[in-house]
Amino acid sequence: MPRKPSNGSAEEFFPDKLTLPSLREAAADCQACDLWERGTQTVFGEGRRGAIVMFVGEQPGNEEDLTGKPFVGPAGRLLDEGLAEAGIDRSQTYVTNVVKHFKWEPRGKRRIHKKPNAQEISACRPWLEAELKVIKPKVIVALGATAAQALLGPKFRVTKQRGEFIESTLAPYVMATVHPSSILRAPDDETRRLEHRRFIDDLKKLARVLK
Ligand code: SF4
Repeated sequence: MPRKPSNGSAEEFFPDKLTLPSLREAAADCQACDLWERGTQTVFGEGRRGAIVMFVGEQPGNEEDLTGKPFVGPAGRLLDEGLAEAGIDRSQTYVTNVVKHFKWEPRGKRRIHKKPNAQEISACRPWLEAELKVIKPKVIVALGATAAQALLGPKFRVTKQRGEFIESTLAPYVMATVHPSSILRAPDDETRRLEHRRFIDDLKKLARVLK
């Protein structure tokens, strides 16, 4: 596809009417930053319009990039297990990412995750804002530092403030916790078990406000 000139904001690719299907369709053609050239496809958020909880991660991973669906890889499976353990109905949730293309670099035959930069996050942010506007979730959960800082400001520290409800204009309840992929990357089994337990505890706090 020939490249369209871009002003570096996803907003220029917005449809006339903001609905989830029209946003998803429009996002498929987004070229507001260079990541569209690297990823296989745009990975837009998924879930129903009336979802009560919105989970926001950093960006799609390898499996998400190939399938076009968010949170379907190992981290997504861990999130699903955590939701089940915390007693949160998966159908009440909407899952998405701050950046909607997979940023990666080659290592041998593998594609290794590369953190999106500030310009890419800023270019992609209008899609997330539009998702928030359409869904109006009661609870937003930022997963990991990139999502937390994009939603709650650059000074926010997940290490210090995870699992706390933060006052925000974005939704009645806003919380940040770790990204499940960080649990999978834990250096040993004991740390992984501990981090997994803390993650479930955070999800249980979330479950309490959903009652
Ligand atoms: S990462 Fe976001 S802003 Fe960049 S091309 Fe993809 S959808 Fe557009």
